[in-house]
Amino acid sequence: MRKLIVGNWKMNGTSRDVSEIMAIAELSGMHAAVDAALCLPATLIYRASQAVGGFAIGGQDCHMMEAGAYTGCLSAEMLSDAGAVLTIIGHSERRAAQHEQDADIRAKAEAAQVAGLQVIVCVGETLDERESKKALNVVLGQLHLSLPDTAASQWLSVAYEPVWAIGTGKVATDEQAQEAHAFIRGLLAEFYDAQTAAATRILYGGSVKPGNVDGLMTQPDVDGALVGGASLKADDFARIANFEAVA
Ligand code: PEP
Repeated sequence: MRKLIVGNWKMNGTSRDVSEIMAIAELSGMHAAVDAALCLPATLIYRASQAVGGFAIGGQDCHMMEAGAYTGCLSAEMLSDAGAVLTIIGHSERRAAQHEQDADIRAKAEAAQVAGLQVIVCVGETLDERESKKALNVVLGQLHLSLPDTAASQWLSVAYEPVWAIGTGKVATDEQAQEAHAFIRGLLAEFYDAQTAAATRILYGGSVKPGNVDGLMTQPDVDGALVGGASLKADDFARIANFEAVA
């Protein structure tokens, strides 16, 4: 399976950063064996997608409704219209700060599918949950309620992002990531079918850096990465996208 490396710029970036986005597209899109993408603030999607040609640009959320009285929100079709080809859904920062529930996430994922966007559905446990040995159970609950009813691996990816590893510099060990990813693949087989599970990319997210990506990418069920802080600079993101084991 081709690995997928996705940058998440969160609430960072203005028109001054388009040159950095162009550098990322040039340096990260070089490997035939890896897909790379950048999920940007909505204000940059059109400008970036025009600037980088075939490189995949995405959003970081979308509304579950197609249109209507939802001040400040963006529909999946609007993202697509601006040039996005994918979007992140259910990032833990949105689950925490915007109180997004699993049912919202499922509805958003389905709306994105209807608009023709690839979707990255994020799940992951807090430190408390890991320390009380509930990590896999939490992931099971989140996936059970937030995955759309039907899936096609070409539009769905799952990101396993332990909350304690996001933006903390505290990356999961290769073994912790592999254990969670293998568990998620098993769940995908139960929810959908074995073929969908085998073909759905499961990304690891949480303090992925040039110095730790190589080990993570050797794990059999780690099919790529969702990268926050280290995606802001072209050199770092390109090193991650060009991880050591890449063919
Ligand atoms: C993220 O935002 O999804 C993320 C994993 O951030 P970071 O790489 O900075 O931990």
